[in-house]
Amino acid sequence: MSYQSPDILSANAKKILNDYIHNVENLKAKDRLKIPVQDMPAQDPIVRGHNLEEVAIGYTMEEARVEALRCLECVKQTCIDGCPVKIDIPGFIKHIAYGEFQNAVDVIKEASLLPSICGRVCPQETQCQENCKVGIALKDVDKSVAIGRLERFVADWEREQGNVKIPHVKPETGKKVAIIGSGPAGLVVAADVRREGHSVTIFEAFHKLGGVMRYGIPEFRLPNDIVDEEIDTLVKMGVEIKKNYVVGRTRKLNDLIEKDGFDAVFIGTGAGLPMFMGIEGENLVGVFSANEYLTRANLMRAFDKKNADTPIYPSKIVAVLGGGNVAMDAARMALRLGAEKVYVIYRRTEVEMPARKEEVAHAKEEGIEFNFLTNAKKILGNEKGKVNAMECLRYELGEPDSSGRRRPVVIEGSEFIIDVDTVIVAIGNGSNPLIKQTTPNLETNKWGNIIVDENQKSSMDRVFAGGDIVLGAATVILAMGEGRKAAAAINDMLAKEIAG
Ligand SMILES: Cc1cc2nc3c(=O)[nH]c(=O)nc-3n(C[C@H](O)[C@H](O)[C@H](O)COP(=O)(O)OP(=O)(O)OC[C@H]3O[C@@H](n4cnc5c(N)ncnc54)[C@H](O)[C@@H]3O)c2cc1C
Ligand code: SF4
Repeated sequence: MSYQSPDILSANAKKILNDYIHNVENLKAKDRLKIPVQDMPAQDPIVRGHNLEEVAIGYTMEEARVEALRCLECVKQTCIDGCPVKIDIPGFIKHIAYGEFQNAVDVIKEASLLPSICGRVCPQETQCQENCKVGIALKDVDKSVAIGRLERFVADWEREQGNVKIPHVKPETGKKVAIIGSGPAGLVVAADVRREGHSVTIFEAFHKLGGVMRYGIPEFRLPNDIVDEEIDTLVKMGVEIKKNYVVGRTRKLNDLIEKDGFDAVFIGTGAGLPMFMGIEGENLVGVFSANEYLTRANLMRAFDKKNADTPIYPSKIVAVLGGGNVAMDAARMALRLGAEKVYVIYRRTEVEMPARKEEVAHAKEEGIEFNFLTNAKKILGNEKGKVNAMECLRYELGEPDSSGRRRPVVIEGSEFIIDVDTVIVAIGNGSNPLIKQTTPNLETNKWGNIIVDENQKSSMDRVFAGGDIVLGAATVILAMGEGRKAAAAINDMLAKEIAG
């Protein structure tokens, strides 16, 4: 679908809503299936490639109500089966169809604490929307009810009203819980544990909170204001926050329990250790991990060239290695930071790319060039040790590997050179070993991920873990889901202790 201006989309929606609004009660499935998908209004691709404002603008009320009318209100609600936190999807969508937006938010918040965030970054097309009967009937997942866009619409609507509800906190119990890391896993645990009246302290290594939602996912996909508001809610609930506090260095995990008197600890330290290709030239000036590149841009505000805490490397031609969301974010950020040409280099085809389809489509609209079935062999530099080119190899697809994806096989003798001055490596992240190294009795697997039981409890007494540090690099919603489970187990443990 080619880009359409927000004005055209909005006018179309108003007309459709007018046609249906008086007959909502009697709409049959066949009528609903005829209603067109409401595209997400977005900034013009040429304009947005040069600013950091959010790409997607969000539905108008009319667009949201028309999209909600597409839901068939199925008896067997397969969409819910696809949601990791089991939101009552048809329940909240029905409220939107009737214009009852507060009721819709209330339904979502029974299961998910961060709907403005999940509505923006969850991979709905492989979760709830993949299972939606509308998409199945129309034989196209892109035609499923746009559940994520509707979730975002109502969450934004609530914020715009200026009366986001602060969850009720029960009377103080005297129990203390430490949370290490302020990503989505840690934030969810903080909220759920604090609600029970336990004192909660978040320890965060960085000077700002939010984990990858702050330092990884760029402003143009997830504005910082939204992350700030979620944290603000926690502060209003009485959660204490200690920034620039690296557990394992500032203080050891065991000391939090043995010396500082915490009754439980949750580890939500994520997967922030970047992986590299291990090829010649990776130590040249101008090679970055996507983590470092995005952290400089997002957290250190490198785009604000005059006031930035850290300078950004001046790039004209950038190659990004990888095909996931991190690669898309790095490529699109490089464009916004002034690169004239940005290549994404991926060794399989577009079909196997793990990045969200929407992000790939947005990147293409913005002029990012994709080189599929290609990979870097060697990075080349000039006499000053700065990147000036990259030698690549062409690939073809062979038999499926253990992940079920067809294995990329190198085509011998296919070497070619492209001119680049910057290479960003976005091929995955592992877990940071610091806490494990300083906590000998904490069990981890061979990748350094913390081993937990079905209640997220680790090998150590009173210590729980969840999110990427357990799963390996995963998603926001899965981190939140693990956080909820851990919080329930911590609350249960503390309640039993209080009861004696
Ligand atoms: C660029 C990028 C784009 C992504 N895009 C998407 C997307 O579109 N959709 C999606 O669902 N997921 C996306 N993800 C993945 C998603 O962001 C993560 O799965 C999720 O944030 C994991 O949450 P977490 O709470 O486990 O950890 P994190 O978000 O990684 O947070 C961990 C926090 O712990 C802190 N910490 C680490 N060690 C210590 C220590 N020793 N002491 C104190 N604090 C510590 C870190 O500073 C960090 O703030 C993306 C990831 C990246 C990197
Ligand atoms: S599967 Fe799709 S159509 Fe059916 S209830 Fe869920 S969102 Fe609505």
